[in-house]
Amino acid sequence: MENRAPRNYTVGRLRTWHIVLAWCDRCKRRGELDVTGYAKDLELRRLERRLRCRGCGRVGCYVLIEKAPR
Ligand SMILES: [Zn+2]
Repeated sequence: MENRAPRNYTVGRLRTWHIVLAWCDRCKRRGELDVTGYAKDLELRRLERRLRCRGCGRVGCYVLIEKAPR
């Protein structure tokens, strides 16, 4: 998955044009993830295990980083 947050990529490295998404592998639901308030040194991949899908309830989603269209 090419958009998955790279290893060691932290909240502090996100730029204003980045959109963080949570993606569920089971129901394919994508939802924007608001990381406001998370520690700057938190690695995005560490969130993956804790994310619960709002569609099917599965725990564990992929974290994707996309660039906002200009
Ligand atoms: Zn789901």
